[in-house]
Amino acid sequence: MKFKVISRGDKRSNNLKARMKQHLIDFDLVYDREEPDLVISIGGDGTFLEAFHRYHHRLNETAFIGIHTGHLGFYADYVPDELEKLVIEIAKTPYQVVEYPLLEVIIRSKTGNKTDTFLALNEATIKTPESSVVFDVEIKGERFETFRGDGLCISTPSGSTAYNKALGGGIIHPSIEAIQLTEMASINNRVFRTIGSPLILPKHHTCLLKPIVDRSFFITIDHITHNYTNVKSIQCRVAKEKIRFARFRPFPFWNRVRDSFISDIN
Ligand code: NAP
Ligand code: MN
Repeated sequence: MKFKVISRGDKRSNNLKARMKQHLIDFDLVYDREEPDLVISIGGDGTFLEAFHRYHHRLNETAFIGIHTGHLGFYADYVPDELEKLVIEIAKTPYQVVEYPLLEVIIRSKTGNKTDTFLALNEATIKTPESSVVFDVEIKGERFETFRGDGLCISTPSGSTAYNKALGGGIIHPSIEAIQLTEMASINNRVFRTIGSPLILPKHHTCLLKPIVDRSFFITIDHITHNYTNVKSIQCRVAKEKIRFARFRPFPFWNRVRDSFISDIN
């Protein structure tokens, strides 16, 4: 089996990376940066997002696992003390794989036929540095509302505990193939009206945002910000692709939610 280890870059994560790498090589596993079967991320959820985006072109072949060297993460959910046990599990057992849904974002330009497609593990957000965004929001080909406000966030179930949560969105179990649309400070008065509540869309229900007022947009895909002008539409739906996690022990999603946000003492 071929593997790759990605570190956040701090001393502790780098040390763990070196230990992990050596242990796995001792077990006859092969270090391969280009085509790993398993990517081990050491750091935080942010490190895991970077690992995901580095290998998002080979999601069918690569499984991911995260070790946290700071606080408990949603993706980085193993502790460094588990390293030795983890190495033996990786080397010896065919591991169980758990799949989570992703978000597909297609940005179409007004000029030419330029189209950019992205996959997000957490979410996409659309904001502008120029006052507010104004979009027509279409769901499944039908006009739903005209949104005016700071922006919109479209998140995956596993991203629902990140930015989405800060915007008052619901926490969605990742076994549910859905995306969630949350508002950032919508303007609501006699002229402009939006639904206000987060919307949860199932698979195949495409959401299309069509800018009415031409702006320059900041479109974030997880931790990466892209700058766009001349945007014709932004299309969001549940992606065909999924992320695959290598699971060596159960750590149910709701336990991760509890341990991250409520308390880590029973
Ligand atoms: P960051 O500024 O370090 O991220 C903000 C926090 O979100 C960090 O504590 C990060 O954990 C945590 N996080 C990331 N994914 C999560 C998930 N799925 N569930 C719960 N918490 C999660 O930047 P970053 O590490 O590069 O992460 C980018 C993410 O930050 C974006 O995808 C977005 O979700 C989030 N964000 C949140 C807000 C907000 O809550 N107001 C604003 C902007 C961005 P680690 O410390 O382990 O990295
Ligand atoms: Mn971070």
